Amino acid sequence: MNVEPPLQAELLRLAAVDAELTRIAHRRGVLPEQEEVTRLEAERNTHKDAAVAVEITLDDLDRDIRKLEGEVEAVRKREDRDKAMLTAGTVNAKQLSEIQHELGSLERRRSVLEDELLEVMERREASAADYDHAGARLSTSEEDMAAAQRRRDEALADLDVAATRCDADRAGVVAQLPAELLAIYDRQRAQHGVGAALLQARRCGACRIELDRGEIARIAKTAPEVITRCPECGAILVRTRESGL
Ligand SMILES: [Zn+2]
Repeated sequence: MNVEPPLQAELLRLAAVDAELTRIAHRRGVLPEQEEVTRLEAERNTHKDAAVAVEITLDDLDRDIRKLEGEVEAVRKREDRDKAMLTAGTVNAKQLSEIQHELGSLERRRSVLEDELLEVMERREASAADYDHAGARLSTSEEDMAAAQRRRDEALADLDVAATRCDADRAGVVAQLPAELLAIYDRQRAQHGVGAALLQARRCGACRIELDRGEIARIAKTAPEVITRCPECGAILVRTRESGL
């Protein structure tokens, strides 16, 4: 097909805009700000798991404390009942000896339970301190993550602005080009990534291959308004004074 050389040159602007759009799309996929968000999310999840684990330990210890307190209370009630019976003086000698024996074992039992309770309460205190630390680490990492998310969103917004500008530029160039030329360009771009390129110093700007003497001679003889394609990659070759023809 025939297209006036100045319009053919517009294809270079179109290719530049499309290359920029490709760079923007690529950058969106490999954004360092997104990598940072992903890293900090994993870190936050680790801290969250740690905080939950400490919370479970704390709940277990609270349950143990309630259970031991209940056991101490039951022993104490039994001791009170026995002592009341002794005070009332209504027991015979045999019962008296049994009650005194029971009071002795109840006291030993209570002493064991109270020691155990003290030990569990000490462990609970240590776990409560762990819980505070885990909570502080978690909230710090959540703040870090939120800040990274804001930086990521800003980076994405910048890319959106750049892409919108490219889209507008592209629409401006496309409006000037014949539909048939555009169809060739778009098909070539879809298949090979680059639709049109400058023929520069005998080299195709798309595939970078240097054309042989025969091809260069053929292109040199082709009228300037005739669309020529790279024999290697198929890109539309835009000819200028830099083409080495
Ligand atoms: Zn080529």
